Amino acid sequence: MSFQVFGIPVSRGVAIGRAVLVASSRLDVAHYFIDEAGVEAEIARCLRARDEVARELSALKTDLPEDAPHELAALLDVHLMLLHDEALTGATKQWIVERHYNAEWALSAQLEVLARQFDEMEDDYLRERKADLEQVVERILDALAAEQGDAPRGAASVTQRDFAGEDPLLLVAADIAPADMLQFKRSVFHGFITDIGGKTSHTAIVARSLDIPAVVGTREASRLIRQDDWVIIDGDSGLVIVDPSPIVLEEYRFRQRQSELERARLARLRHTPAVTMDGERIELHANIELPADAEAAVTAGATGVGLFRSEFLFMNRDGELPSEDEQFEAYKAAVEAMRGMPVTIRTVDIGADKPLDRMSANELRHEHVLNPAMGLRAIRWSLAEPSMFRQQLRAIYRASAFGKIRLLIPMVAHLGEVRQILEAIKRVQQQLNESGHAYTKVDLGVMIEIPAAAVMLPLLLKHVDFVSIGTNDLIQYTLAIDRADEAVAHLYDPWHPAVLQLIASSIAQARAAGKSVSVCGEMAGDPAFTDLLLAMGLRSFSMHPAQIPSVKQRVLRADSAKLAGVLPAILASEDPQETARLALGVGSAGAGRTFH
Ligand code: PEP
Ligand code: MG
Repeated sequence: MSFQVFGIPVSRGVAIGRAVLVASSRLDVAHYFIDEAGVEAEIARCLRARDEVARELSALKTDLPEDAPHELAALLDVHLMLLHDEALTGATKQWIVERHYNAEWALSAQLEVLARQFDEMEDDYLRERKADLEQVVERILDALAAEQGDAPRGAASVTQRDFAGEDPLLLVAADIAPADMLQFKRSVFHGFITDIGGKTSHTAIVARSLDIPAVVGTREASRLIRQDDWVIIDGDSGLVIVDPSPIVLEEYRFRQRQSELERARLARLRHTPAVTMDGERIELHANIELPADAEAAVTAGATGVGLFRSEFLFMNRDGELPSEDEQFEAYKAAVEAMRGMPVTIRTVDIGADKPLDRMSANELRHEHVLNPAMGLRAIRWSLAEPSMFRQQLRAIYRASAFGKIRLLIPMVAHLGEVRQILEAIKRVQQQLNESGHAYTKVDLGVMIEIPAAAVMLPLLLKHVDFVSIGTNDLIQYTLAIDRADEAVAHLYDPWHPAVLQLIASSIAQARAAGKSVSVCGEMAGDPAFTDLLLAMGLRSFSMHPAQIPSVKQRVLRADSAKLAGVLPAILASEDPQETARLALGVGSAGAGRTFH
């Protein structure tokens, strides 16, 4: 039966395909297709892993000490029984044979199916056996990983490709941590649906950077949608249609084709310089998460990297941070890929919804009683870990010998922090001089993300070369709305007069001081805000590479002088969005309060 689920649209476009439900804890399992010729070998691999676990469990049982509680032996028997149950192994085989899933994927897909059956059981005892099943599957996954040896694991590490004739697949999960989302770059999935998340949660941001339709904050999609259901994701409206009728399907297929044509049309703007009708040159820079993203930035026609979120190099590493050399190689790779264009590297912005260790938003919610968004994150964490911070600075400075680098500091709120940063830079330069490492001048910038920084901007500007406005956090902290919390997502409003005042005054003050200013939050990549930001005097935007063409189109059609003339009315308005719609015709294209 067809039904609909509503969520928050975070990445535009239409995706149609079959649902793949993945438990949040198993998102790091590799997902890839195997060839027809490899099916038998994959089944054999799965069975070998199962037999290995059977041996382990039998050995454990044999070695149980005499005085061990008898429940332990019974538990091992249950695990052995589950291990050989056809509902697990037989059905896992089916996923491999019919869908060509790799063994790990097939196993976790079947676990999802069985876990639901357990959840629906009336009997408490039987329902609780789900945990046993999960442990058994975990053991088989470990055995498969051990067999792979040092071969790359995880979705990101496998060269993904579509399997000919296979239906497109859409990932459905309760939540996805940002670093896990990152693994799905170049993956088999054509769309994402999650229960949790807000418009500018980092999971949503990474989904947008993948440039495939995504809807978050559906609250219960992962409970309502079943493995293999046909699903439509409408990434423009936030609608998810499960088991659509043929007529609805046809309508969405038509829309899908239309948006592909539109993308192809916009892609032709790639080499067109972003200049307004009245001759103002606009920098359209890219936001990237990994050095490999720089290629997509160049392809999209970016004139630089305005935000390299370096924290993604630090995440999901089991507590081991990247060394100075590893970081240096990553920064150098990004700089070289940008072929002389500037690369703005932001120092590590760990914390809030970007924890160092793999943790989903749900786990974070339960882990932290206090508010992590206001805790030891970003520059606060860096200053609390001085040797880690200097290590990152050294890596960035060393990479400056290979191209134009700008250094950007997140979450600055105090002048004292800027002084400490300047001290750290001085020390790092001395160290590099002593060790004979080459470096060049690196401009220093701070992010304007905390209202305090926007209010005291003239003081900050005396110490830095540029500023970049992080509207995602600026909105969060100005309106006291957790950007990752779908429960308050309706109050997250970029059109709020207080937010607009802070952005407009920051741009005006930076320009008056002769310092360069850009916006690198999600507002910069949403064409619904392009005219407004141009009206405020912004001349440098940074966004996901995929957003560059549509923002460029808006720039090409804009008259910046005319736009500036209507700004006072918008800023003075009780309903700025409506005033902007009337005066500029912006914010009306269904975007407005929603980022795409
Ligand atoms: C921002 O806050 O707007 C920003 C660009 O940084 P992040 O989204 O990584 O917090
Ligand atoms: Mg931020």
